[in-house]
Amino acid sequence: MATIAANIQQVEDRIRAACKQAGRDVQSVTLLTVSKTFPAEAVREAVHAGQHRFGENYVQEAIEKMQALADLRPQLQWHLIGPLQSNKTRVVAEHFDWVHSVDRLKIAERLSAQRPPGLPPLQVCLQVNISGEASKSGLLPDEVAPVARAVAALPQLRLRGLMAIPEPAEDLERQRQPHRALRCLLEQLQADGLALDTLSMGMTADLEAAVLEGATMVRVGTAIFGTRPRPAG
Ligand SMILES: *Cc1c(COP(=O)(O)O)cnc(C)c1O
Repeated sequence: MATIAANIQQVEDRIRAACKQAGRDVQSVTLLTVSKTFPAEAVREAVHAGQHRFGENYVQEAIEKMQALADLRPQLQWHLIGPLQSNKTRVVAEHFDWVHSVDRLKIAERLSAQRPPGLPPLQVCLQVNISGEASKSGLLPDEVAPVARAVAALPQLRLRGLMAIPEPAEDLERQRQPHRALRCLLEQLQADGLALDTLSMGMTADLEAAVLEGATMVRVGTAIFGTRPRPAG
């Protein structure tokens, strides 16, 4: 049975190979270890294997893991990557380091107002519905620029870039298209004067496509922890 440490090694090898193919420095891609549905002890094992950044989808589950791992807190970064309802913004502003899934100005305003002044600014990405799927959350590409300008001006947030979860596709070329579209959107915002440095894209199935198109943060769960149990309820 593969261990978490061995799986992390394999994911890092995949990232390294994709960077080589793309002519990119391997340091330009950060691995975000997605630990949703896996217990705190699995996260601890990943920390021992050198990981420090963890992505979670469910706020309550994440808070429980943070508490179970409080002894490691100073070396850990917690990233919320799942949908965020406005009634959860306060607990998120108080406990997380990053939020990748900001998809409305109102959510960003609440996070900024509720971020405790003693903490560094909350690092945020805007989630973009890059494949334009009716059922998906995220801003439509046309909506991104005005929201990005408004979010960038909020005092307790630091807008870092864009995040997307493209529609699954089998072949590499089809996988690359939405990632390329997200990169172009980021480049437009940069050209408009926003200082952004993060493209959060690429998961277990499509991290190569994402790295080839410029991902700076890949969010990988299954390849590290294994297949997720179906969440109850
Ligand atoms: C679950 C999840 C991931 C990780 O997906 P894997 O396919 O398990 O690597 C990445 N990003 C988001 C937003 C997720 O919800």
